[in-house]
Amino acid sequence: LTFDDGPSKHTERLLDIFKANGGKGTFFVVGNLIDNRKQTVKRVVADGHEVGGHSWSHRQLTKLSIEDMTNEIMNTRAKIYSVTGKDTTIMRPPYGSFNDETRSVCRDNGVVMINWSIDTLDWKYKDADKVYKTIMKDVKDGDIILCHDLHETTVDAMERAIPDLIAKGYQLVTVSELLACGD
Ligand code: ZN
Repeated sequence: LTFDDGPSKHTERLLDIFKANGGKGTFFVVGNLIDNRKQTVKRVVADGHEVGGHSWSHRQLTKLSIEDMTNEIMNTRAKIYSVTGKDTTIMRPPYGSFNDETRSVCRDNGVVMINWSIDTLDWKYKDADKVYKTIMKDVKDGDIILCHDLHETTVDAMERAIPDLIAKGYQLVTVSELLACGD
C-alpha cells in the first residue's frame, strides 16, 4: 500500500489502523507539507513504515527545467532527512508523470522512481466502499497500490482493506522491502 500527497490531518488515523492490524506502508510525502506535520512524518518512520518523496510542491515534473526538477526531488529528500534522519532513495512523481529528463535526474542522484500497479482512483470518487472493492477485486502478489492519505474516505477504506488483505494472507510491506524480494 502506498499513500501520496500527505502528510495530512488524516495520516495519524491511518497509522493507528496499521498499528492495530499490522503491516507496513509507504508514504510519498510532499516536501512543502512536512514542516506543518513534522511529528506525523517522524511517527511514520518510528512505526516502521517507509517515507519517499513526492516532489516539493506537487508540480508536474515534465513541465520543469532540469534544475527545477532536480530541486523538487532533492529538496524533498533533504527535508525528509532533516526531519526523520532517514535518507530516502525512492520517489514518486506527481501524477505519475515523468520523461527522459526525470529518469536522468533520478539516475544521477541515486533515486529510484516508483509508480504503481493498482490505481484506486480514491481522489476521484472519495468513496470508501469503492476504494475497498477496487483493491480487493484486483489485488495480487507484488502489487503496488496507489492511495492518497489526503482523503478521509481513503482512511475509512483502510479500516477494512488492511485487516482483510492480511486475513487473505498478504504481507503488507514497504516498497523497498518489495523491491528487495525481487532480487
Ligand atoms: Zn500526488
